[in-house]
Amino acid sequence: MRYVSTRGGAKPASFSEILLEGLAPDGGLYVPEVWPQVSLGELAAWKKLPYAELAARLLGKFAPEIPQETLLSLTREAYRPDVFCHVREGEDASKIFPARQLEDRLYLLQLSNGPTLAFKDAAMQLLGHLLNWALEEQGKTLTILGATSGDTGSAAIHALRGKERVKVVMLSPAGRMSDFQRAQMYSVMDDNILNIAVKGMFDDCQDLVKKLNADAAFKAKHRLGAVNSINWVRVIAQTAYYISAYLQTVKNIGDPVSFCVPSGNFGNAFAGLVAKFIGVPIGRVIVATNENDVLHRVLQTGRYAPAEAAQVTSSPSMDITKASNFERAVWESAAHDGKLVAEMWARLASEGQIDFAKDYPEVWARLSSLGLCSSTSAHADRLAQIKLAHERWGIFIDPHTADGVKGALDLRAPSETMIILETAQAAKFAPTIREALGIEPPMPDGFESLIALPQKVEMLENDADILKAKIEAFA
Ligand SMILES: *Cc1c(COP(=O)(O)O)cnc(C)c1O
Repeated sequence: MRYVSTRGGAKPASFSEILLEGLAPDGGLYVPEVWPQVSLGELAAWKKLPYAELAARLLGKFAPEIPQETLLSLTREAYRPDVFCHVREGEDASKIFPARQLEDRLYLLQLSNGPTLAFKDAAMQLLGHLLNWALEEQGKTLTILGATSGDTGSAAIHALRGKERVKVVMLSPAGRMSDFQRAQMYSVMDDNILNIAVKGMFDDCQDLVKKLNADAAFKAKHRLGAVNSINWVRVIAQTAYYISAYLQTVKNIGDPVSFCVPSGNFGNAFAGLVAKFIGVPIGRVIVATNENDVLHRVLQTGRYAPAEAAQVTSSPSMDITKASNFERAVWESAAHDGKLVAEMWARLASEGQIDFAKDYPEVWARLSSLGLCSSTSAHADRLAQIKLAHERWGIFIDPHTADGVKGALDLRAPSETMIILETAQAAKFAPTIREALGIEPPMPDGFESLIALPQKVEMLENDADILKAKIEAFA
């Protein structure tokens, strides 16, 4: 199986080769040339498998060159019950990602029992093990350079801490994260992790990463890599929990289910579309956005028009302007015509938008037939959904999951089975929970003391040369 760029201009590569890559050299995203298929018979057989085995079978379809035993040993390491251990009251602890029934035909897929209490752990833990394995095979090392506003960085740090062949340099904006987020990132003491608090905003951190990556000599010398949300392994790792959720909730294999996904960069929602492309009977994928609604607008109007700047909201991990992974859905809708996708994104760069409905009606027709729907929400909606979930179902949900609950309740049809993806635990966003309910969300075991742990972080001016010297000394 070969991977190509959505923009058609990169040399086809294998799964192991793109494992270490971010963007393709032509600026596109990697996608498999063809979608492998999973039959209903196979799905029925997968129903009995523990999660790690299901994930290994799925990966095997996308990485046929890696032996199944290798994949299985990596997924078993990644999805250990003692890693995804922050199980809450009333949950089925026998599952790594349990689908909890809320009411008739409505489920919550609990994805945030991992080390950083957010769904990003699900993909990042596997990526960490795969990355280290691939580097061992190739006799290489890698320095992951990333910028984070909180969640992605901490999931990456917790997935890569102690890994022999990987070093991590994570930039975060000084003084702009919650106490909880800071504690989660900066309390990691492993030698291979370097946390840097930059005097500036998240955008400044991202610009520094771009500047260092633009210096080809520096990038090659230190083998700079990334683990951002466009990484293919993160997408396909997420597809596994859609399949698990499907198998946990349907009566008969073949019955359709729909999903509602709190969305920012569209990585999580696209993983659901992948499940559909390979043959899992999925009806709709509802993309639930917050005030940063670029995805909602494109699905309603056919016009993809990123805003100038992101709004700051109470579901901050969805505060984006562009939804990078959307390009993959467009590539699928453009019948895998990379040249056409490259033309569209050139337009986006020059005109600030792509009008699919007007300029690419065939692509728009296909995009409209993928089963994507959308919703948007505001702060007051989040508070209302947190309250509703507590009163009606007796559970605490976080503000991002609340956006998903709104989309699901607003859009579900009477006969539709709907699975809402939980993206974080309420404990991570205590101030919003207090505002909605007037009480504290429960803190999982082991996290009460987190804030008091010693922290290791270096403060740095917003300056690329100073950062280069720091990496020189560290790597
Ligand atoms: C990253 C994140 C999202 C958005 O996921 P995408 O894959 O970027 O669409 C939603 N909620 C939380 C809590 C997140 O950390």
